[in-house]
Amino acid sequence: MKEVAILGGGPAGAFAAEQLATAGLRVRLFDEKLAWEKPCGGGLTYKAYSQYPFLIDNPTPKRFVTETVLGAPKAGEVSLKLDDPLLIYSRYDLNHMLLERADRAGAQIEKSRVTELTRYGSGWQLRTPSGIVDTDFCIVATGARNPLRDVGTQLRPHDSMSALGYYVPGQQERIDIQFLAHLEGYIWVFPRCGHLSVGICGKGEPAATLRKRLEQYMTERGIAWKGSKFYSHLLPSLETKSWKSNRVAGEGWMAVGDAAGLVDPITGEGLYYAIRSADLATRALLQETGELAEANYRRLLRRDFAADLEFGSRLAKRVFHGRFLLGDVPSRMVQFTRRSPRFSAVMQDLFAGKQPYLGLKRRLLENLNGSLYEIFMSLGFSRLVPSRKSV
Ligand SMILES: Cc1cc2nc3c(=O)[nH]c(=O)nc-3n(C[C@H](O)[C@H](O)[C@H](O)COP(=O)(O)OP(=O)(O)OC[C@H]3O[C@@H](n4cnc5c(N)ncnc54)[C@H](O)[C@@H]3O)c2cc1C
Repeated sequence: MKEVAILGGGPAGAFAAEQLATAGLRVRLFDEKLAWEKPCGGGLTYKAYSQYPFLIDNPTPKRFVTETVLGAPKAGEVSLKLDDPLLIYSRYDLNHMLLERADRAGAQIEKSRVTELTRYGSGWQLRTPSGIVDTDFCIVATGARNPLRDVGTQLRPHDSMSALGYYVPGQQERIDIQFLAHLEGYIWVFPRCGHLSVGICGKGEPAATLRKRLEQYMTERGIAWKGSKFYSHLLPSLETKSWKSNRVAGEGWMAVGDAAGLVDPITGEGLYYAIRSADLATRALLQETGELAEANYRRLLRRDFAADLEFGSRLAKRVFHGRFLLGDVPSRMVQFTRRSPRFSAVMQDLFAGKQPYLGLKRRLLENLNGSLYEIFMSLGFSRLVPSRKSV
């Protein structure tokens, strides 16, 4: 293979370009905007920066956040200390840093929109406003609004969430996460360098309704949002069935990041999966050729995280709409975090990306007795409950 074209220069495309150029391939990356402030919280978990330490070891402005406040209807709020902090970038800065790394590795970076992709012999012809480009292989990294219909995941309406919000002037040290009644999603307040990103994501609800919910929340909290910059975008959130038939690779192409639907269906985390899938796709491409490379990529994805996210898609409905001990699950999560150190440790690990969804049920069940005991004790039932030693 002589040349690889990368379509899209977000985190997925930029990282794929860097990896392939470092391995000595000729790489051309096309992005219609290059570095830009993509609507996004910009939060990177411990899972991301522990595997890719360059995300921390660089001079680009960023923030570490060590506290998150979780809120749910009728349960109030609870503060959760994050031993593994969340790292927050502005998306302009993150994209710029990743594109610079690709450039330094030798990728040719072009500010151009790819308008058409046509199979031509064993390669491809790309159409851009400045002409036709021939290439041998395509990495599709065009994000959730991928305009190239024949490649990448096929997002149906129930496979995505609306995500929207405001960049509001202000400062705070913590992250706020607020669950809302009857919403498969949540509100977030992320402190960034110089401003707050306040947003909402939700499945199965029109964007206008989500926007109203968010504005009501901000008004109640005294967050002065009027006149602030509004943003909205699409967040892939694949249903279980769609994970099974997800179109991530085909003859002469592989899709990475949002263009492959690789986003956590519960938290909406996509940055880690964008970088990780680019890593796996480029490894597969450097190890094998043709169909073997495509099959290799599918296998690596599945083993690495896709099976876990597919399982997460099963849990999503239960997390947001389920009931436990006569209360709704988000409220119980807040109450248990407040009352049980064991449960709080599980929540910390979920935030850090250290607790996979596969294995979560088992850990919760193993901890259930201990958690319930801690909750009873914290509620002042110590005289009614026998001590653990005598149980
Ligand atoms: C509101 C919101 C908040 C979020 N918050 C978080 C968060 O806090 N943490 C987290 O981990 N994830 C978050 N996500 C998800 C995260 O933003 C995405 O998962 C991530 O950006 C995916 O990276 P990507 O490179 O696959 O796609 P993108 O970042 O979308 O990049 C795609 C690139 O392709 C380019 N492009 C598209 N079409 C073409 C074309 N035809 N020709 C040339 N270029 C093209 C675009 O210009 C863009 O630069 C959030 C998403 C939303 C919508």
